[in-house]
Amino acid sequence: MDLLIKNGTVVTAKESFVADVAVDAGKIVAIGKDLPMEANQVVDATGKLVLPGALDVHTHLAMPFGGTVSADSYLSGTRAAACGGVTTVFDYPVQHKGETILGLVNSKKAILEKEACVDYAFHCCITDLNEGTILEEMEKAVEEGITSFKCFLVYKKENMMVDDGTLARLLLRAKELGAMINVHAENPDLIDLNIEKFLAEGKTSAWYHYLSRPEFVEAEADKRAVHWATHLDAPIYLVHMADKEGLEACIDAKKAGHEVYVETCPQYLEFTCDVYKREDGRNFVCSPPMKGQESQDALWEALKAGFIDTIATDHCPFQSFEKDWGKDNFTKIPNGCAGIENMYPYMLDAANAGKISFERVVELCSTNPARIFGCTEKGSLAIGKDADIVIYDKDKDFTIHVENMHSDYDHTIWEGKQLHGYPVQTYLRGNLVYDNGEFVGEVGAGKYVKRVRKAN
Ligand SMILES: [Zn+2]
Repeated sequence: MDLLIKNGTVVTAKESFVADVAVDAGKIVAIGKDLPMEANQVVDATGKLVLPGALDVHTHLAMPFGGTVSADSYLSGTRAAACGGVTTVFDYPVQHKGETILGLVNSKKAILEKEACVDYAFHCCITDLNEGTILEEMEKAVEEGITSFKCFLVYKKENMMVDDGTLARLLLRAKELGAMINVHAENPDLIDLNIEKFLAEGKTSAWYHYLSRPEFVEAEADKRAVHWATHLDAPIYLVHMADKEGLEACIDAKKAGHEVYVETCPQYLEFTCDVYKREDGRNFVCSPPMKGQESQDALWEALKAGFIDTIATDHCPFQSFEKDWGKDNFTKIPNGCAGIENMYPYMLDAANAGKISFERVVELCSTNPARIFGCTEKGSLAIGKDADIVIYDKDKDFTIHVENMHSDYDHTIWEGKQLHGYPVQTYLRGNLVYDNGEFVGEVGAGKYVKRVRKAN
């Protein structure tokens, strides 16, 4: 036996119990009380929680955007992931006109093979059907383990948006292939109308980023996406849900039996649009923006009631000097914030405070994303699964500072946030990659996760 984690409280999406976890050759081989086994390495987890590693299914590493490239490389982003208990990261390469899915993904894979500190998978953002060749190629992509694709209903001027006809074609094709379409829903025409008006009036602070894309602007696109998916009887996954009205449309569709999945992010659970009134409001600029208190309350309520399926981060940080480009014009602020190292600790802190259960956090951050996106070896502590394990100390206090994070960015929206309870160790397929504040893994040890399509 390679590793024996003794006497911790094992948490799954369903239950918690004190047990030993035995690992050999990167897999969990036994779980039980007082396992009569010897191991090369024995870890005493008495009094600690033993959790499955999280999957952050929404990140943008080394992504060209907003006139620059997001501040975390594949190396620093996955290193930070390991230190926050995330053992699988999904990247979102963006296809541009003329590019093929596999050409694009393989170019990213070549970098990750050298740099990845945790395991990785890809959703591919489709922006252009290339005269239908992309619809053809999707089949090959699915066979290669890329079983989800993203559409932007926004970023029209940036040439990233798909129109409704393309969305419909992609939804139907994905359904046929046992794959999924993920949607970033905001309405670009309403946003442009608002931006034009505010700039003409000299209203240029970060607050107008929020006011140019308020609740109803997201809700319109959420509802349109859900409308198409339900009437075409195709599954759909809404990324970074942030507004109440759109969320309610998703909940209604779920209740009617449609396959609608909802993701939200820690920033929408923690902050409201009030952050954009702050002096450093530009640092919080992401799209969709944080919304009002009513939306935040609705997100927490849905999360507790089981209507939110996954938590992910939309990790896409930019450096301070880049955020400063928009000091006098909110449209010049690169959109995106940090979160990859904060998601699991933040959600576990909510559990520690009694807001939700630890089992629910495991479900939202690990079990559900693995199940929805076909990572059959990931997402729970069970015999035969990859030994992606986080040991969590419920009593350890931790304050987030940019200095104790493991990213390459120079500031974080989470600065000063106090957490009660924190991960003390992360194992990737049985290998220790994070130990009490330090990254101790191997650069390039992360492996590609070949995902499995849904049975039709
Ligand atoms: Zn995103």
